[in-house]
Amino acid sequence: MAGKHYDAVIVGGGASGLAAAAELGMSSPGLDVLVLEKNEEPGRKIRATGSGRCNITNTAAAGYTEILKFFRRIGLMTRVYENGLVYPYSESAADVAALLISRAEELGVCIITGAEVTAVTANGRQDRSDGKGSREERSFEIRYSAKEADRAGRVRMTQKSVTADYVILALGGKAGPTYGTTGDGYRLARELGHSIVTPVPVLTSVECREWDPEHRPQAMMLAGTRTRGVVSLYRHPDGDWERGVEVFEEPGEIQFTKYGLSGICVFNMTRFMRFDRRAGESLEDFVIRADLFPDGNIRDFLRDRRSNAFPGEKTGEVLRTVLKDNIAAYVLETAGGAAACRHIGDKLLEDLNDAEIDAIGDAVHELTFHPAQLRGWKEAQATSGGVSLEEIDEVTGESRLVRDLYITGELADRDFPCGGFNLSNAWLTGIGAARDIHDKIQDQ
Ligand SMILES: Cc1cc2nc3c(=O)[nH]c(=O)nc-3n(C[C@H](O)[C@H](O)[C@H](O)COP(=O)(O)OP(=O)(O)OC[C@H]3O[C@@H](n4cnc5c(N)ncnc54)[C@H](O)[C@@H]3O)c2cc1C
Repeated sequence: MAGKHYDAVIVGGGASGLAAAAELGMSSPGLDVLVLEKNEEPGRKIRATGSGRCNITNTAAAGYTEILKFFRRIGLMTRVYENGLVYPYSESAADVAALLISRAEELGVCIITGAEVTAVTANGRQDRSDGKGSREERSFEIRYSAKEADRAGRVRMTQKSVTADYVILALGGKAGPTYGTTGDGYRLARELGHSIVTPVPVLTSVECREWDPEHRPQAMMLAGTRTRGVVSLYRHPDGDWERGVEVFEEPGEIQFTKYGLSGICVFNMTRFMRFDRRAGESLEDFVIRADLFPDGNIRDFLRDRRSNAFPGEKTGEVLRTVLKDNIAAYVLETAGGAAACRHIGDKLLEDLNDAEIDAIGDAVHELTFHPAQLRGWKEAQATSGGVSLEEIDEVTGESRLVRDLYITGELADRDFPCGGFNLSNAWLTGIGAARDIHDKIQDQ
């Protein structure tokens, strides 16, 4: 038998769900609002964002002013850093989560934790033609499992259910499953008639074939190094191995790990690495190039140094004045292979020929990596794919298939680069759904 009836139930107490809860609490005092969160504490992922600092939004994000206004209303001071990145003034992600939770609760929202929603059913909605109907007809039923202690103190999982006039699905995607996001929202949305664009992990590191033990030169020598540079991504359609089409380029810090490439610019690149297996596409269609000396032309630099070489000066020594030691070593091995001069680094600078300078130039400005695989859900910061945007209203997030059902945050097929844009989407869509529910209730 169904339990209590609520005006609105929010499934998922993450960024989007908590923003919706606080907004509903502020705009519609007196409404019976329930948040069901699977973790023992709401907002777990928020606490981990921005390495514990929470890059809350960005001055270039859609809805920036709205987001800032919302946080001011709940009492959060923020500050803007370089590149428009916005953080809480305290630089504490935990403060953001705690404030959202306490504001929602102070405003009368009930939050049940340890409550895993297993089904949402929309009773009598699709076939209603008059737009009204009785309360019972308009009801959603939300089933969830929760821990309950019996009289002897033994904890058991029990099945419970509640009903609601409005439901917000804010279950997030699949990125970072340790924070509770294991893709449950896709099944719930599918059962309500929605289609799902296949979710893939993005904003993650890339494993590359150059790290395979048999690969020469062996890129493992780069592990643990960071350098400023520019990464670009090429797609090679139909086996066009000459050059391919550049689909992404971004300057930033490139991090070499024990298995491949990482860093914000690499994370952002992964959003452009979607491929369709059924159409015969694969990760092998992509090639990554790194420019490790983006502020000049290393060929000109080497030619200039060659004409002014000191007696006994070696090529490797000169390259190490611009590149970190292990990067210089890897570049020289790569260039040595291309120029058929194995010990190019030991060669006297004055003896370096133009073809060898060009080979070093290619290795420095277009160091090539072949992606083997994207690091999976555990490491990804966002999900590309999700509930089809064709099936939800752009502003309010309301389902076009099921009235009074809202789909917000990362559960919908939207993903953004690093820099506060994904949280912005979560806040904004949560606030948008809450406002629409408020407006509908006012109009009744
Ligand atoms: C490590 C890390 C760092 C990040 N840093 C940033 C950053 O600094 N800036 C930025 O913009 N973005 C960042 N992101 C991305 C950002 O956190 C997400 O895009 C955002 O949290 C998505 O909000 P959401 O509300 O849609 O989902 P989430 O915040 O993931 O919340 C979904 C909630 O639903 C709950 N849930 C799931 N299934 C169920 C169920 N069956 N029943 C009940 N509850 C359920 C989950 O437990 C979770 O609490 C980061 C992500 C990660 C993983």
